[in-house]
Amino acid sequence: MKRTRIAVMAAAAALILGACGNAGEEDTGSDDTKVADNAAAQFEDGTRMKELAESGKVKIGVKFDQPGLGFKKAGVDVPTGLDVEMGKIIAAKLGIKAADVEWIETISDNREPFLQKGTVDFVLASYSITDERRKVVGQAGPYYLTGQQLLVKKGSDIKGVEDVKGKEVCSVTGSTSLAQIEDKGAKARGFETYSQCRDQVLDGAVGAMTTDGSILLGYAAENPDELEVVGKPFSEERYGVGYNKDQPELCEFIQDTLKTAQDDGAWAKAFEATLGKSGVETPEPPAMDPCP
Ligand code: GLU
Repeated sequence: MKRTRIAVMAAAAALILGACGNAGEEDTGSDDTKVADNAAAQFEDGTRMKELAESGKVKIGVKFDQPGLGFKKAGVDVPTGLDVEMGKIIAAKLGIKAADVEWIETISDNREPFLQKGTVDFVLASYSITDERRKVVGQAGPYYLTGQQLLVKKGSDIKGVEDVKGKEVCSVTGSTSLAQIEDKGAKARGFETYSQCRDQVLDGAVGAMTTDGSILLGYAAENPDELEVVGKPFSEERYGVGYNKDQPELCEFIQDTLKTAQDDGAWAKAFEATLGKSGVETPEPPAMDPCP
């Protein structure tokens, strides 16, 4: 597990080294995910999978402003990033191709209500599995591991989490990151999106931004002259796929689909097309939790 985590960090760090210009633009994703034929036939009547496969429609919530994970350029229909690739694999198993998925922007704070209200069928949005969240939504996975770090302006006197006491640090409301940085003694300031928070760092309005290393490294890669990620990871974030708790059959379906993708090389291909774009070694995919 530890080796996996280090490999993932190294992969994300390599985004910086491999960066030239806009990391989101380089991140094209894959376009040949194999879509299941006659998908509905494989599911039992009365299951949510059968309904989705028969309707040929699925709504997937992803981030739109996180290069490497969930990123959507204006005028482009299908976003890109590792979260999106995992969403494509799940949709394909339902017989739905990427262009027919309704990709809906989710921010950290609306992931649970979007799942509860049916605004989206699945959330794949740098969505850490936590006990609190599992009280209100289903979370299958994890499909990826990362950890919380800090993004600062180059030359900042903040070099790691031990330096944040009493300093203004931004993050996003509804994230694990905001609560965790408050616990470290920072003056935490919550924004709606990480791109807004990043702008606060660039303007010098706050001393640092904090969230998952995978997200921060994407921003640093976009702006390597001004921004850098500092310090060691100080949490473990395990990204899961959110689904509505009233449809518990979705858990086995998601886990089986992800497991197959791990075994047949689709997971590795997805990683290589997104966070691993710099050519760094692809990590071992994480072991998944049992379904409830
Ligand atoms: N992974 C953390 C979370 O789920 C932080 C990233 C985010 O806000 O999307 O809260």
